[in-house]
Amino acid sequence: MPHPGLPVCSACGAVLRLTATRHALGFPRLACGGCGTSVLGPLPTAFRVTYIVLAVLVAVDAVRLLVTDAFGPFDIARLVLFDGVFVGVLVADARLRRASPPGDAHD
Ligand SMILES: [Zn+2]
Repeated sequence: MPHPGLPVCSACGAVLRLTATRHALGFPRLACGGCGTSVLGPLPTAFRVTYIVLAVLVAVDAVRLLVTDAFGPFDIARLVLFDGVFVGVLVADARLRRASPPGDAHD
């Protein structure tokens, strides 16, 4: 039975259910009632917006440091690390979103 908003299991096609455990970065963990497979689901909107805002803030901070010529080696490492994490999370979320579009059955 189709359930809008929840992805289906790629292995058996059953609707995945949210479990109580949440990944450290905000990704919800989904479990399949059919075959027991456990996968990560796309970020909830609030988390996604937060990561986008954080990534933009870090990018703005990087520009500010460039403009004021206040860059130190630790600033570069910090900004690359932070933005790397935030952008990495958003890329992973985009992949999960594309892999399991809500309410879209391919087969
Ligand atoms: Zn399954």
